[in-house]
Amino acid sequence: EIRVRFAPSPTGPLHIGGVRTALYNYLFARKMGGKMLLRIEDTDQNRFVPGAEDYILESLRWVGIEIDEGQGVGGPHGPYRQSERREIYQKEAQRLIDEGKAYYAFDTAEELDEMRRRLEAANAPAAQYNAITRMQMRNSLTMKPEDVRARMEAGEPYVIRLKTPRKEEVRLNDLIRGWVNVHSSAIDDKVLLKSDGLPTYHLANIVDDHLMGITHVIRGEEWLPSAPLHVLLYRYLGWESTMPQFAHLPLLLKPEGNGKLSKRDADLGGFPIFPLKWTDPFTGQEARGFREDGYLPEATVNFLALLGWNPGTEQELFTMEELIATFDIAQVHKAGARFDIQKAKWFNHQYVRQRPDAELAPTVQQQAEAAGFDCPLEKAEKIVALLKGRVNFAREIFDEASTIFNAPATYDEAIATSKWNDDAVKAVTAFRDALLAFEGDFVADNIKHTLSDAMQQAGIKQGKIMQAMRLALTGLGAGPDLMLTMEIIGKAETIARLEKALG
Ligand code: GLU
Repeated sequence: EIRVRFAPSPTGPLHIGGVRTALYNYLFARKMGGKMLLRIEDTDQNRFVPGAEDYILESLRWVGIEIDEGQGVGGPHGPYRQSERREIYQKEAQRLIDEGKAYYAFDTAEELDEMRRRLEAANAPAAQYNAITRMQMRNSLTMKPEDVRARMEAGEPYVIRLKTPRKEEVRLNDLIRGWVNVHSSAIDDKVLLKSDGLPTYHLANIVDDHLMGITHVIRGEEWLPSAPLHVLLYRYLGWESTMPQFAHLPLLLKPEGNGKLSKRDADLGGFPIFPLKWTDPFTGQEARGFREDGYLPEATVNFLALLGWNPGTEQELFTMEELIATFDIAQVHKAGARFDIQKAKWFNHQYVRQRPDAELAPTVQQQAEAAGFDCPLEKAEKIVALLKGRVNFAREIFDEASTIFNAPATYDEAIATSKWNDDAVKAVTAFRDALLAFEGDFVADNIKHTLSDAMQQAGIKQGKIMQAMRLALTGLGAGPDLMLTMEIIGKAETIARLEKALG
């Protein structure tokens, strides 16, 4: 059975890139008939942020990612919060010690700094605490066993480090990136268990992926450099034969494509990079969210799904079901994906227009009433029908409706100059008279016939005066369907506006 996991750390609001990672995991799991797990990686107590876990759960719920097993759902491999699993990691770390694959280290922060300075001065290669340098440090490989025991009994703080081999090739075949080869001399003797008894990300992540039966690790490219270390850990823990397959997703790039997307780009560009609004519990600072900015979940999902993947066809609009049916992890791109917020708006436009009128009407009603207009739901619904195809966000419908709520205060100069002529005056007068005499239902169809009959009787070509008619009614030279506009405005107001235009 295919089993994937989303494993966020609750160190703040989930970045929108994290939502994409979760989404790709979800699409893959659903496509393969597998399971999607949620694990909370909260072993870094210094970076724990209250509220972040709830935020993660709510974000996933909002975009429609369903978790099969894990935090918030339960399951046979729990607990799914790493802070509640410390004995499990301690046991595995101890096993590595017993098998000679890890060791205790007592070095203080100052001693480690000193080592780093020395290595930098000597232009040493990337890995610092390794097969060579460890021999000069204070650890159970260089100290006498009784000395090690004495220090531990005296309560001196220590960590457990991985004993990285000196000369070995570490290889992995990433589903997206292909073969990745790293020489073990480039891998540090990473800390596995910290002095507070909690594991580091690396140990906890591997132990849990193994115990939870994860078959595929799908995560952001920023974790690719850690992958060889993880392969080594699987080997040392004796789990190499069931090691999951890796797939590292491309980075999200700035809108201009120059470098990694950051919070700063979002602030400068005036767009959100978090799924939901977030209030920092320490500073009270607020960050915008896709949801509160008016993006619909299906638009957000569609937008995110295409950041780094596409099925190679012309199709751009996908429901979640269609994404599941089409998604193929092997088609995910290697190159970074440009975070084009204009594209997100375009998707939202597509989905807003698909929403039923009745669903969007209350928003319009609330905005109208807050602005002091009378707007029964029935009217709001007609406004939605008329205007939803012209906006990117539902809240913009009310703005678009300003010519419905307000009689024109001014008339477009250019249109008035070119179109407001004798024929126009004659046409508007004839139409007004026809409306005064009209007694049927004031609906678009009837209005249309009344207008064309009146124009025919007055001997006026309708095509020539329509812009003037619109000018009289709205003050503008262009806009949505005029018959529907009149229907919504109502008979009395329509006649009043025509009269005002005639002066
Ligand atoms: N806790 C890591 C994160 O926050 C998980 C990385 C992984 O998926 O291995 O991204």
